[in-house]
Amino acid sequence: MFRRANLRLVAWNVAVLFVILGSIEFLLYWQFQQKIYTGVNAELYQHRETALQLIGQSQDVYSALGNAPNNYSYRTVISSPSGVNWTTNCTGPTIPPCSRASFAPTSAAAIHRVAIQGGEDIRTTNFEGYPYRVLTFSVVVGSSPYVIQIGRTVLGEQESLDQLAVLLVIGAILGALLTGAGSLLLANRALIPIRTAFARQRQFTADASHELRTPLALIRANAEMLTLHGDRLAAQDAELVTEIIRETDHLNRLIGDLLTLARADTDSVQINTRPVDFRALVGEVHEDLQHIAESRGIESDLSLNGAVTVAGDEVRLRQLLLILLDNALKYTDPGGRVMVGLAQADRRARLTVSDTGIGIPATDRPHVFERFYRVDRAREHESGGTGLGLAIAKWIVQAHNGEIKVESELGQGTTFQVDLPTS
Ligand code: ADP
Repeated sequence: MFRRANLRLVAWNVAVLFVILGSIEFLLYWQFQQKIYTGVNAELYQHRETALQLIGQSQDVYSALGNAPNNYSYRTVISSPSGVNWTTNCTGPTIPPCSRASFAPTSAAAIHRVAIQGGEDIRTTNFEGYPYRVLTFSVVVGSSPYVIQIGRTVLGEQESLDQLAVLLVIGAILGALLTGAGSLLLANRALIPIRTAFARQRQFTADASHELRTPLALIRANAEMLTLHGDRLAAQDAELVTEIIRETDHLNRLIGDLLTLARADTDSVQINTRPVDFRALVGEVHEDLQHIAESRGIESDLSLNGAVTVAGDEVRLRQLLLILLDNALKYTDPGGRVMVGLAQADRRARLTVSDTGIGIPATDRPHVFERFYRVDRAREHESGGTGLGLAIAKWIVQAHNGEIKVESELGQGTTFQVDLPTS
């Protein structure tokens, strides 16, 4: 229980830190990128000014840009209304090799947008595997509109950004790992007092239950002594003594169940696992309860399919069978039926205990394995149960690495299904 709480706490800490760190790092990266591209953008705008000046002087876009200084790492694409693409300034110290023949619009989408909407477009895009910052703008020469694109490689800048991204990711992972380790340490420390208090409380329940057994046994023995001398007791007193015996029996069962659960909680119950002939055990318990079924007018069927051996603790498995069968008989009215089935499938033993009894309402079904949970509190005393039976059943099944499920239809009946690993 504490392990799960610990892990959940650590997971939350790591997740929260990841979100905070991730947001800060994202902002940092974005800021850095903006700063880098601001410089590149300024270069591109400056180059646009030069290009516009040259175009203004010659009134011929192609020759103007053909004469433009080519000692830049720039590419220029001219898109004329006739749809011809022509490039210049390809021979500067461009990082990727650049030839007129292979050159194409760096970003056709940007050209399209500017050609239709006018204005300008600036973006980073990839061309022949190299990152480019591309400025696309329109210009009207004579009466013809042109779209010009100036691109500059941003390989160096992109490498710096990539390095920064790698560093930030490593930082985030390291941060998460350190936070995980730190919060695990802190959570462990913080949970020490809670764990101690819990253990003390469980121990107290176990000790109290244990201590209560002796005086209870004494009360019962004394009450029994009194009934032996029933002739000396007034009829009313004899009834009271019988009541005392009934109540001490109930208390004894309750204390026994409490003790079992308290010990299970403190992990002080030994599960002695060895191969158990489950078929024989189911048959035996069914036989033992046959007379109770008969006395209540309930028909009880048994269906055993093949030999089934499970790896488990015979005493605990018997207790599990008693709980389920006792409940089936308790919550079935005279004239009803109880069916016990056992079969083996896929290395699992499947036990089913079904009845045609009162059933469990859908809203109560998820809670029946909780301690002291009872569907009908009015019947609790009359049924003689402790409200701990199914909690113990669930613990036994889980201690055997099995599963227990309940299916029920109100007024129709209930089926408990237990799957246990076979040996
Ligand atoms: P109890 O001692 O009250 O029987 P359990 O833990 O064994 O306690 O069962 C919890 C509750 O689940 C019962 O009070 C009863 O309301 C319901 N229940 C258990 N088994 C059956 C069953 N076979 N049919 C109908 N209700 C059941």
